[in-house]
Amino acid sequence: MQDATLTHKKDANHSTEIAIAPHITVGGRDLLIVGGPCAVESLPQMETVAERLAQAPVQALRGGVYKPRTSPYAFQGLGDEGLAILDRVRRQYRLPVITEVMAIHQIAAIAAHADVLQVGSRNMQNFDLLKALGSAEKPIVLKRGLAATIQEFVMAAEYIVSHGNPNVILCERGIRSFDPYTRNVLDLGAVVALKHLTHLPVIVDPSHATGKRELVADLARAAIAAGADGLMVECHPVPEASVSDARQALSLDEMVALVHSLRPIAAAVGRSLPAGQATPEPVLA
Ligand code: PEP
Ligand code: MN
Repeated sequence: MQDATLTHKKDANHSTEIAIAPHITVGGRDLLIVGGPCAVESLPQMETVAERLAQAPVQALRGGVYKPRTSPYAFQGLGDEGLAILDRVRRQYRLPVITEVMAIHQIAAIAAHADVLQVGSRNMQNFDLLKALGSAEKPIVLKRGLAATIQEFVMAAEYIVSHGNPNVILCERGIRSFDPYTRNVLDLGAVVALKHLTHLPVIVDPSHATGKRELVADLARAAIAAGADGLMVECHPVPEASVSDARQALSLDEMVALVHSLRPIAAAVGRSLPAGQATPEPVLA
């Protein structure tokens, strides 16, 4: 990596800590755990998820409302209605929300309702979108492209940073390989390399990396042991009934158990998990 690049790590101690909400950061000592369904399906679904995960605790909710689907005939997300659901749940449970932006024209509306904008794997090299996100006033989770090299991944982040938005969180979510047993191959070597190469926070998505719920928790723990700054994990009140990515969704009980199991691993690598909310604090009726 060129020394002149903005994402380059200038020295061993140079790490960027990014605030995604008033008391929630990523890239510092505290881990960032993000949980939620692949797609926002309804208000009751998201309320159930938020209520359970606020106490896990997770620090942020995920849920796609504009979904990049392989088939044009598959569920494409609830769109604006889903965004309104996310916004309601985020205020009701005081949990920041992360959702995917697929196109430049969606940026303003999503930034008005979500705390973090996600660029999905399929858009990692959509350079016009990346440049436009340089002007967004929200942090960006940038997911690694399906077959992107580490260099290409860092350069994609560089597009956003060099266009004015320094708050980029890298997300390793597995890369394509020859073995269909897992959906992708989780590249933990890339997590370690990215922490050496760049000062940006690096989180791991073991859900899309494996495609199989029984593999998710162990790889999530491995990611934290390898130095990841956080996790993004798909979970659902009724995993088998998920409208998308049902096979990889954890139940909410499994998600809570995973979060608890991270504490000793976090401590062993000098990290901590923020304490949970004893009870969620609804701010709306
Ligand atoms: C997602 O996180 O909702 C998603 C679609 O993941 P990816 O872009 O990594 O495939
Ligand atoms: Mn998904």
